[in-house]
Amino acid sequence: MKVLKFGGTSVGSIENIKNVKDIINDGHKKIVVLSAMSGTTNKLVAIANNISNKEPNEAVDKINKLHEIYTITIDTLLTNKDLNKEVKDYVSSVFNFLVTCTYKAFSIDLENNIVAQGELLSTYMFNRFLQQESISSALLPALSFMKIDKDKEPDISYIKKHFEVAINAAGNSEIYITQGFICLDDKDEVSNLQRGGSDYTATIIGAAIKAKEVQIWTDIDGMHNNDPRYVENTKPISNLSFDEAAELAYFGAKILHPQTVTPVRADNIPVRLKNTMNPEAHGTLISNITSEKGIKAIAAKDNIIAIKIKSARMLQAHGFLKKVFEIFETYKTSIDMITTSEVAVSLTIDDDRNLEKIIEELEKIATIEIDTNQSIICLVGHSVVNHQDTYKLFQILQDVKIRMISYGGSKNNISLLVDTKDKIDSLQKLNDYLFELVTL
Ligand code: ADP
Ligand code: ASP
Ligand code: MG
Repeated sequence: MKVLKFGGTSVGSIENIKNVKDIINDGHKKIVVLSAMSGTTNKLVAIANNISNKEPNEAVDKINKLHEIYTITIDTLLTNKDLNKEVKDYVSSVFNFLVTCTYKAFSIDLENNIVAQGELLSTYMFNRFLQQESISSALLPALSFMKIDKDKEPDISYIKKHFEVAINAAGNSEIYITQGFICLDDKDEVSNLQRGGSDYTATIIGAAIKAKEVQIWTDIDGMHNNDPRYVENTKPISNLSFDEAAELAYFGAKILHPQTVTPVRADNIPVRLKNTMNPEAHGTLISNITSEKGIKAIAAKDNIIAIKIKSARMLQAHGFLKKVFEIFETYKTSIDMITTSEVAVSLTIDDDRNLEKIIEELEKIATIEIDTNQSIICLVGHSVVNHQDTYKLFQILQDVKIRMISYGGSKNNISLLVDTKDKIDSLQKLNDYLFELVTL
């Protein structure tokens, strides 16, 4: 069986919802994972923020406006009177619940319950729409099987067991629809897989059922060779290895949640990225096949903090780096990039939750300098560090303001650290030179 995930834009307009119906209605049994309609999760987060800031009137105003949007969508999509009424009743119950949340004290559990409603709404509506179109479908409640453990990792054995229970309970159907993003935590409270997490839901289910393939349907023809939000003349890449895709997702290619390929790579389950608005386009196939050497794609990750740790006695002092790493380990903060010199080590982190405590500890052994608002630009490809064209990178570095460089850590990745204000310019220059739009 295949798992097909459709993102926010794919379920965000009547036209796209109809495209989704045509894509999935091919006579094959499948699991369909849906995100919330585009914009909904952002609005739910904003509503939770209003509650947190004790602004109940603003929250209610947002809830009412969002409810109106859903009412209009239902009236256009569900022309069958009974189904129209049933869906409106369900949607009203969700919005009434949201209004009751505005009277409550803010907590993370409350916020998680609020943001979970987006996927519950989209899947309920879509299931009834398929019923109207005489397509056999059933809902699998994600909260009955999707679970994370105390380290926020998917609890695979629980998921396998309970997914089976859910699919058996749903009975025979052509299409099984479930919610992306939402899950239970180790205490059985409603939680989620972080923003963009529906991709992760799809590959977790793919691994649990040993799917033939996982497809991620979105609003673009697959993974492009640079970030199309900032760079002109980007192109789709037809094939990526799991390693390459994992690096790009981790280092900021928004098309994939950072953990997307983790569950499926061990079982070699291919992941195909496709465009709901242009299903004929090839898209990107992520598999264990590695092809063409050299730099294939560039991605960038923001909100990076650079920490320079200076000690006059660094080299003579055996165990200095060990002490440094232990501090990061104590505060469960992972390091992305690292460079060293005789007197200093510079490294980057993206998680600032324990930054103050980390600095306090580091200051006991060294002098510390912190730079915020940094971005990692990551160049990814098969054997990039060995490829004959990689020399071009060093020729263009004179035009790009680089703060740190990491080369050789893995064969598939070269990382550059730049000030975030220089990111777009750096991405465009790297694109123009490396992908041969401009000759050196
Ligand atoms: P969905 O709502 O379907 O999950 P996302 O917005 O999460 O969609 O991901 C698709 C978007 O990712 C694209 O519209 C594009 O703007 C952005 N994006 C960033 N980097 C890349 C890249 N390298 N290739 C393709 N899309 C990218
Ligand atoms: N709806 C969630 C979000 O906007 C999950 C997703 O779209 O993948 O982050
Ligand atoms: Mg996404």
